[in-house]
Amino acid sequence: MSLMYTREQSAMIQLVQKMMENEVKPYVPEADKTGKCPRELYRYAFQMGLHMAEIPKEYGGVGLSYESAAVIFEEVAKVDAGYALGLVCTFVALRNVILAGTKEQAAYFAERIKEGGFACFALTEAGAGSDPAAMRATAEYDPETNEYILNAQKTFITNGAWADIYVVFARTDTAAGSRGISAFLVEREAPGKIVIGREEDKMGLRLSNTVDVTFRNVRVPADRRIGKEGDGFKLAMRALNLSRPFLAVLAVGIMQRALDESMRYAMNRSQFDHPIIDFQMVQQMLADMAIRLETSRCLVNNTMRMMDAGVDVQKDGAITKTFVTDAGQKVVADAVQIFGGYGYNRDYPVEKLMRDMKAFQITEGTNQIQRMTIASCLKQEYGKGGKRR
Ligand SMILES: Cc1cc2nc3c(=O)[nH]c(=O)nc-3n(C[C@H](O)[C@H](O)[C@H](O)COP(=O)(O)OP(=O)(O)OC[C@H]3O[C@@H](n4cnc5c(N)ncnc54)[C@H](O)[C@@H]3O)c2cc1C
Repeated sequence: MSLMYTREQSAMIQLVQKMMENEVKPYVPEADKTGKCPRELYRYAFQMGLHMAEIPKEYGGVGLSYESAAVIFEEVAKVDAGYALGLVCTFVALRNVILAGTKEQAAYFAERIKEGGFACFALTEAGAGSDPAAMRATAEYDPETNEYILNAQKTFITNGAWADIYVVFARTDTAAGSRGISAFLVEREAPGKIVIGREEDKMGLRLSNTVDVTFRNVRVPADRRIGKEGDGFKLAMRALNLSRPFLAVLAVGIMQRALDESMRYAMNRSQFDHPIIDFQMVQQMLADMAIRLETSRCLVNNTMRMMDAGVDVQKDGAITKTFVTDAGQKVVADAVQIFGGYGYNRDYPVEKLMRDMKAFQITEGTNQIQRMTIASCLKQEYGKGGKRR
């Protein structure tokens, strides 16, 4: 079983597969070892416009539907999910500005990254992870210059060292809780100081760039505020609703790779004079991997189609991210099990999949927080006197 692809989607899959196999895959083992991905490795992805895959053509993007973007990003993640994450974070940050900013802001942002640039989404702070409303970053308005003075210490920022544009969240009102947060579009060269911290030595997704970014007295013109003052928290939550399903896409890519590698291994590895695929307990693991993969892919596809239809996916995106990344965790653990002792060895491909997968249960809201969101949506739905469907 697999999704039915359109002719256009099949053609795109082939193109992306070829690019990833030839231009990226050969460099992945070394980059995974060192934790440093050369920016040059993104050259072909930029040329294909993958960093602007679902951005409308009027902004210079490829103009894919969410559904089609998901299909091709599964292919990217099959080769390396950390590499894919750098591209996804870029278009998600831009999408955020298209949805909540002005046309000028979106056009300016798009123009800056069109030929090959990164963007990032800077929300998390050391003391404000699951609870971003506790953030301390401030943006103080200076009426004399019509600018905001931004001071923020953001942590775990994907693309932080590479970005040309940062979408940064900070308090414009220190007494108003989540309603006192605003969003800003900040350029790399903005006056003031933007300090990039050391690269995080992550267990997985080692091709993605993750750093602390500190903004010291950075001056941001008032017309670079995204939306109204105080709307930043709502805006961040809406952006995350749209980007979480893409984490599930990357998890599906990892699962497919885990199944491919496990099938190949199980058919070639013999014990007791039989290929291990002949043993029922190995078959059970493989069948369960396929069940988790295909159900996850269908769930992702459905959520993407809801997003294409403009439906609010706060609950469905949380369900998708949680189900798929939890299922994915079991799939990669089974892949290591099928490889036996070799699965535990860095010379074989599956231990990396386990390291990469783990991040998706944590980032963009942990799966515990997602369950709280799902329950809160359910409470609201049922509180209105009946369930939705
Ligand atoms: C690879 C990677 C990339 C990232 N990229 C970005 C990025 O680009 N931009 C960005 O802004 N951030 C980014 N993050 C940060 C990420 O979103 C946070 O790590 C995440 O939201 C969790 O916050 P925390 O790490 O502070 O954990 P904490 O909030 O300290 O949570 C610790 C544990 O407590 C649990 N917990 C906390 N509160 C509750 C509760 N109320 N009920 C039950 N359990 C709870 C959590 O589920 C978790 O298990 C990234 C993180 C990683 C790992």
